[in-house]
Amino acid sequence: RHFNFCSGPATLPLEVLERAREELVDYQGRGLSVMEMSHRGDDFIEIAARAERNLRELLSIPEGYRVLFVQGGASTQFSCVPLNLLGGGGTGNYLDSGVWAKKALAEARHLGGAHVAASTADLGYRRAPAQGEIVLSPDAAFLHYTDNETIGGVAYDYLPEAGDVPLVCDMSSSILGREIDVSRFGVIYAGAQKNIGPAGLTVVIVRDDLLDRARPETPQMLSYRQAADHGSMLNTPPTYAWYLCGLVFEWLKARGGVAAIAEVNRRKAARLYAAIDQSEFYSNPIEAGSRSVMNVPFRLRDESLDQRFLADAEAAGLLYLQGHRSVGGMRASIYNAMPEEGVEALIDFMDGFARRHG
Ligand code: PLP
Repeated sequence: RHFNFCSGPATLPLEVLERAREELVDYQGRGLSVMEMSHRGDDFIEIAARAERNLRELLSIPEGYRVLFVQGGASTQFSCVPLNLLGGGGTGNYLDSGVWAKKALAEARHLGGAHVAASTADLGYRRAPAQGEIVLSPDAAFLHYTDNETIGGVAYDYLPEAGDVPLVCDMSSSILGREIDVSRFGVIYAGAQKNIGPAGLTVVIVRDDLLDRARPETPQMLSYRQAADHGSMLNTPPTYAWYLCGLVFEWLKARGGVAAIAEVNRRKAARLYAAIDQSEFYSNPIEAGSRSVMNVPFRLRDESLDQRFLADAEAAGLLYLQGHRSVGGMRASIYNAMPEEGVEALIDFMDGFARRHG
């Protein structure tokens, strides 16, 4: 298998794919595939419940929080958050750290308005907003931030403090990548297709007291309360994606859980940033304290070599290193399932390419 640096859908652990292959046609002697099972049947209910139990264990999710497995991607949560949290009035407050934060903000504006509590747009998003820069509006109903900017490669090295206001976090590209204190959050959401599993599922972790703040026009399918009351099965859920996410949770537990993988993630990122910083040929513009551990964007000094770099990388079995079309350059996404050997192979390749073309 090649090393897949795609930002999402991202590489999955080989062990998970192999187990899925083993169980694909006949799930544990039941004579059918998980894909073919009723989502209301005992077998799938158990698969779903086990996935939730394991996620709760991995993230130490305390009592008083619901875990929802919904559809529509993290992008649908950009609407769900203001719809579900602004029923009592007030304004959604947003930290602006890059492309994904801006998309969440745009949706909140579309649904009635939002306040930008801090932004690093003027700095070209070279870092995340600092705690001291955050100014909430007097009527703040929640503070939303994007833990890891998948495109810009910008992350927070602290947990924003929002006082009494619920903290809402888009953790799409960092969930399960490092330990977090869930009790500090009102809502955490994440599209699955980076650190959790295949595309098609979105995880929402919501504090119980926030289930009943929805605006009256909130569609049933977007309502946290409805999802919670129906075991995330208001309609047919993406059963196979849910099952695969469950396999990823089991894989992560077997690897020692979030603390263990966080250590590996730090090592991988440190190796790659060091290789970039030591070279004259490559660069990364993000300030040290805000560098993402999951997505490492970098540029070649000579952009005319970009296509050559990508073609040679692909020939060497290193896939999807092209940066997002909005920013150009390169990006290596090195989520939980990217083995350390993958990062070493990338560094070796970069080094060789720089020597050939530097
Ligand atoms: N938020 C972040 C940080 C992302 O990286 C992405 C996708 O890459 C999204 C939201 C949108 O996710 P989805 O495609 O699941 O809607």
